[in-house]
Amino acid sequence: MVLADMGTRIQKAIASMRNESVIDQNTLNILLKEISNALFSSDVSMELIKKLRTAISKRVNIEAVAPGVDKRKLIQRAVVRELTNLLDSGKKPYKPKRKKTNIIMFVGLQGAGKTTSVTKMAYWYKKQGWRTALVCADTFRAGAFDQLKQNATKAKIPFYGSYDESDPVEVAREGVKRMRDKKIEIIIVDTSGRHKQEEALFEEMEALTKVIEPDDICFVLDSSIGQAAQDQAIAFKESVDVGSVIITKLDGHAKGGGALSAVAACGAPIVFIGTGEHIDDFEQFETSSFVKRILNLGDIPSLIKIMNNAVDEDEQKMLQENLMKGEISLRDLKMQFQTVMKMGSMSTIMSMIPGLGNMGLDKNTDAQSSNRIQKFLCLMDSMTDQELDSDIKIFRDAKRQRRIVRGSGCDMGSLNALLQVGGQFQMAASKMKGMKLGKNGQMPTDIRDINKMMGMFPPHMQKMLGGPQGFKQLMKKFEGMDPSQMQSQMANMAKMAGMGGGGGKKMKVRRR
Ligand code: GDP
Ligand code: MG
Repeated sequence: MVLADMGTRIQKAIASMRNESVIDQNTLNILLKEISNALFSSDVSMELIKKLRTAISKRVNIEAVAPGVDKRKLIQRAVVRELTNLLDSGKKPYKPKRKKTNIIMFVGLQGAGKTTSVTKMAYWYKKQGWRTALVCADTFRAGAFDQLKQNATKAKIPFYGSYDESDPVEVAREGVKRMRDKKIEIIIVDTSGRHKQEEALFEEMEALTKVIEPDDICFVLDSSIGQAAQDQAIAFKESVDVGSVIITKLDGHAKGGGALSAVAACGAPIVFIGTGEHIDDFEQFETSSFVKRILNLGDIPSLIKIMNNAVDEDEQKMLQENLMKGEISLRDLKMQFQTVMKMGSMSTIMSMIPGLGNMGLDKNTDAQSSNRIQKFLCLMDSMTDQELDSDIKIFRDAKRQRRIVRGSGCDMGSLNALLQVGGQFQMAASKMKGMKLGKNGQMPTDIRDINKMMGMFPPHMQKMLGGPQGFKQLMKKFEGMDPSQMQSQMANMAKMAGMGGGGGKKMKVRRR
């Protein structure tokens, strides 16, 4: 993502300030100049950059800083805060309500990414435990319904559309009615676009709005149009009641800063960003969290939120007990995989850990591993309860293997891979069994024990974490944290790696 480059540049500029012996107006000017250049090359408008510079200067007022105050920290904080303001629309987006029908209508030009994003959003909420469904009210473009149908089927999300009805309003009415009857909580309506902002499109949107009465209208914008984003957003906002925005295609070469800042400036909150064609390439957009992440300052609060959402306390406890006893079954593994899927993409998670953000986990690797886990889950779905609870040895039976493979629609290779992971998982558990924890259940301090813990991560993760030493340092960063948060962190770090296990309930970090 080009934005990551921008973040790195700004971060470097802030870091280089640390080498200066005196921090004065001149140092600040140099920093502001570098920040401006970084923003400019990411397509942020001159007008907004000027505003930002003034705001930072005003906030810092270097000559008036009292002696003894850390000027570098002060400046860094001001930069973070003002960048956040730059990307903040100041408006709160619509929040769906549980156990109610929430209707979200998508609007935007053709090719902006509506159909892709409706599926991503439905899938995102589904993973959080919501009942979601899609309605295809695009009767304008041939093949629109097929596209939505294909996406929805792949993501296992209920959908409605029609091959015969040509009136989008009728299709939307019928679709919403059916999904409402099915007690769907979030009904997402995909609409047609046009190549330009034309009258016919706005009339269609208006007619649809009258009939389905959406709770939120979500405007989808392609970030690659750069500065033009603002005009387009304003045009849509003026003709329909846009309540939230999704900015797509922030992967690749898009200079996304233009779209992000311009749209925020026109008063519509950005709720998600699209960062690729895969269903998981979708990130919730929360301004301050986003700024911290692109500056590689980490975002522990969001990380904890995500993990807490994904982790089921009871399951966790059971797993912990099994781990300590060294009795691990495929059922435990299944639970772990489900949690990993709920957490979303690994690269997003990594970017929330201070210092790990720009290690650039390969997007493809990310998608591949989520694909792989999906397959594993399908395989485990076609196992019997008895099989899930047994020792892996029972899968040596060829007949059993064939039955499972056939039932899951996967191939033998996937089953073998799963059994291999299962074996590693059991081995990791047996390593945990003998591990000595520090006094009062603190983090192990013995390097051999740390090595054991590292052994639970797959090799690429170990490398990313900087080996045992790096891992120890990373743990230090967590030390200010509440011990209970720390515990789930540890368990989940290992879990993210798809290996399960991790520290857990008995592991505590000393508070200093
Ligand atoms: P619609 O006409 O607004 O419904 O747009 P589509 O959802 O059909 O998307 C148009 C094209 O953009 C498709 O080829 C999508 O795969 C692609 N696309 C959508 N979102 C993203 C994204 O976030 N990143 C990338 N790289 N491609 C995207
Ligand atoms: Mg479409």
